[in-house]
This record gives sequence, C-alpha cells and structure tokens, in this order.
Amino acid sequence: MSLPHYDHFIDGEFVPASDGAYFDLIDPATAEVSAKVAAGTAEDIDRAIRAGERAQKEGDWAREARVRVPVLRRFASALRDAVPRLAEKESATTGRPVREMKAQLGRLADWYDYFASVAETIEGGVLPFGPGYLDYTLREPLGVVALLTPWNHPLLILTKKLSAALAAGNSIVIKPSELAPITINDLAQLLRDAGVPKGIVNVVHGLGRVTGKALAEDPRVAKVDLTGGTPTGKAVAAAAGQNLARVTAELGGKGTVIVFPDADEDEAVNGAVFASFIATGQTCVQGARVLVHESRYEAFLERLADKVSRLRLGPPSDVSTDIGPMVSEGQRGRVLDYVRIGVEEGARLVHGGVVPEGAKGWYVVPAVFGGVRPEMRIAREEIFGPLVVVMPYRDEEDAIRIANDTEFGLAMSVWTRDVLRAHRVAARLECGIVWVNDHHRIDPASPWGGYKQSGIGSENGVDAYRGYTRLKTVIVRTQETKFDWFDGSDEVKRYS
Ligand code: NDP
Repeated sequence: MSLPHYDHFIDGEFVPASDGAYFDLIDPATAEVSAKVAAGTAEDIDRAIRAGERAQKEGDWAREARVRVPVLRRFASALRDAVPRLAEKESATTGRPVREMKAQLGRLADWYDYFASVAETIEGGVLPFGPGYLDYTLREPLGVVALLTPWNHPLLILTKKLSAALAAGNSIVIKPSELAPITINDLAQLLRDAGVPKGIVNVVHGLGRVTGKALAEDPRVAKVDLTGGTPTGKAVAAAAGQNLARVTAELGGKGTVIVFPDADEDEAVNGAVFASFIATGQTCVQGARVLVHESRYEAFLERLADKVSRLRLGPPSDVSTDIGPMVSEGQRGRVLDYVRIGVEEGARLVHGGVVPEGAKGWYVVPAVFGGVRPEMRIAREEIFGPLVVVMPYRDEEDAIRIANDTEFGLAMSVWTRDVLRAHRVAARLECGIVWVNDHHRIDPASPWGGYKQSGIGSENGVDAYRGYTRLKTVIVRTQETKFDWFDGSDEVKRYS
C-alpha cells in the first residue's frame, strides 16, 4: 500500500522539498511508518520567506485589518466544521486519545474569531504632545514572522500564535514539529480556501536542526515565536538575537498542584489526576508535582494512585481510552529512564512506570511516586510524560517554598475552599498562570506565558496581538505660524 505524502505549503501551493526528499512519520500506536513528509532544506525556507516578503507588498492584506477580518471569520467557520476530521488525524499522529483531541480542537476556531475581533476593534493612541501638535501612533505588521511549534498540541499551539500573527497582518512561515506535522497542511488548505492570499501563510516541514535553524537564523525574519523545550528556546533566541528579531518563547515546565487541607478532597484527587495525565502527561503545564499537607499525605497518595490505576490504556482512536501511547519511542524511553532514576533516588514507585505486556506502540503505564523529596531529580526536571510525584508539606509557607523552588515558572494550581488563602497564595507563586480549584483551562483572551526558564513573553490576549506589530509615532505640526530655528534671533524656541 502506498503511503500518503505530505509536502510543504509555499506561496499558496503544496510543493515537495527542493531535493525531493521525504522523512518517515511513525504511528505511535503501532510503531509502523504511517506517512512520508517533505524533508525541508534551507532553500525551501528561503523560498517561503521570499513568498512572505512579496505577499507583504501585494494588495491590501497587510495594510488593512478590514480586509483580513472577514477572511479570518470565514476560516473560523470552516475550521469548526473540520474539527471531527482534524481530531481523528491529530489523534492518530500524536497518540492522544481522540476524546481529548475533539475537546481541545473544538475550541480552535475561537482563537481566530477572537483575534479577528481584536483587529477590528483595537484602538490607536493620540498622545498629548503639546500645543500646536497632533501626535498619534500606528500599529503595523512586523513583516515575515517564524512560528516553530512542538508535537504535543500541534494545532492548538500553532493556532495560538498564528491567529494573532495573521490578524495583525504578518506573513508567516511555520515549521511544525517533525513528529506531528500533517494536520498543519489541512490548516493551510483551509486558510487558502477561506481567501488568505498566497504567500501570507507558508509551511515548511523538516528537522529542527535544519529547517528550524535556517528559519530562526534568517535576518529577514522579524520575529521568532517558539513553543518547545528550554534548550531549544535558548538556541533559537540566541540566533534571533543576532538579527535583533523579536522573540516569544513558551518553554518547559514542571507544574505544581498544591492541595490545602480545606480543599474538597474528591475534587482535589480528580483535579490532580486531570492535571497530571491529560495528553498522557505530555503537556507543558502538566501538574507534575502534587503537594499535599502532611496530615493527609498517605491517604491522598493512596486515593490518587487508586484513581490512576483505573485509567484506561488503549488505542488513541477508541473513545473509551484515557491514556494513549506516548508520541515516540524517545519520549517513552525518557519516562522509563526517570522511573529508574526515581527508584535509585529512593522514591517509592506506588503505581505503574512499566511497559504494558504485549504493547506494540509506545505505551507506558502511568507512574505515581510517593516518598519524594523536593531535591530529587524526578521532582525538579521536566519529564514530559505520565509520571507524577507526590510530596508532603508542613504549612502554607512550606508549600509555597517548595512550589517556587524550581527553575521553571509556567503554571500551578491551588486547591482550597478558603478564598483568602487562594488569592494570598496565587499572588506569591512564581509562575505565569495560576488556577484555583482547576487546571489546564485556557482562553484566547487570557495571557499564557512562563516566568523564569519557562519562557519570554506570552500568547493570547491583546498583548499577543500587539507583540505581532511594530509601533509608529506620527507627529504633526498643526500651527500655522512659520518656524525657522536659524532665523538669526537669540530667542530660545521649542525645537524638540
Ligand atoms: P523541541 O524544543 O524539541 O522542538 C520545538 C520545535 O522547535 C520543533 O518544531 C523542533 O523541530 C524545533 N527545533 C528543534 N531544534 C531547533 C533548533 N536548533 N532551531 C530551531 N528550531 C528547532 O520541543 P518538543 O517538540 O519536543 O516539545 C516539547 C517541549 O515543548 C517541552 O519541553 C514542553 O514543555 C514544551 N512546551 C511548552 C509549552 C508552553 O506553552 N510553554 C506548551 C507545549 C510544549 P523538530 O520537531 O524537528 O525537532
């Protein structure tokens, strides 16, 4: 049987790599090759950037928000209709259970509607420059921007960036993850069908160290927006810095769930499992560390492990599956390594952490560790898989100290019925996102970004739109009086 082939999307057309090469895409549920994807080259990146530059100059797309808004709305509507198909395809590519994928992608179109509304309604500024002058600001698109995206939520993470970049009028070159690239082609097709002019959105597949690198280093790129691991973020930001290109980076995390003794314990157990094991634990905001008051520690750990033991492992396409395979053999190996490290460090493996018998794909039974101390590697390093560590704390101060004692600062959740405590603790956590009695919730209007080693800048909200624009100040002299600084007089006049 011949495998499906996925090409780049450059200047409005699907085109193969410049040297005609393809790489294999592996089905995580079967470990078999499922498709061939164009293996991009630096030449392909060059073509895509040139198409983007040309598209900035042609027509009114880049200049007029009013031209872009109806296209974005039309696209959002088509995207809503496409969700069931995209969810199945993305589930098969990433291994994420299809039930999760449908729920996640069901929100995608909201981003395009939201940023269409921002583009339509955002107001400029008129500044008090002084008598005889009118001073106003204009926001212009940056030009060609680069979006580098990961494999864990391919369409959602791309959408967070693309919706803002498109609405602000930029040309875009996307480098999707090599592990989950194919639904991005569907998106490109839908954008073309909705009327996005050719050259505005381009997709170049391939390896991060080839196409990603070429894109991040290119001096014609005005902004690089990456979601990925912290080491990649640093490499990409350093490359972009050489060109003084703007950088937004959503990077690694080691999210913490803090359960206070006054929390509803049923809710907190369910919430901790939701925080830790959605997407088989492969999320940047995963509740990878659960902090429980020492008085409830053993009981909570037992209840949490019991709930985890009842999660249903299975093929991603099955609607009853809770835990699918991990995305790749490498990711599964990473989780199994950390299970070994945790045991060697003296932590107690309470549940899972093994490969299920007879598994063909990249499955691992979700792991729960007790007896964990904050200094252990399993409590500090990003694992990015179905492994949760549960740690005790003495009091509120101790919980905040442990929660903040990490190089990452992306997201945490606080579980309590005490409204004073909720706000008090939220204010002291060193991270970009705090949920109270919840986890994972996201909205196009709600900023999303990390502190510390978890990134720079944020997605979502009006600031993300502004981050895809550059600001021009126009200073207009409105007084009729003649001005000549060098008129031979000694008078001190205003010249600045
Ligand atoms: P990577 O950092 O490996 O890759 C991210 C993207 O960058 C991929 O497209 C990758 O291509 C590309 N890339 C890799 N190396 C380079 C390079 N030298 N120059 C330019 N581009 C490069 O991340 P993963 O895809 O493995 O995703 C998992 C990571 O993403 C985790 O650390 C996770 O925490 C983080 N993440 C952060 C989120 C947030 O909101 N803060 C959300 C989701 C994930 P290729 O795939 O070909 O290697």
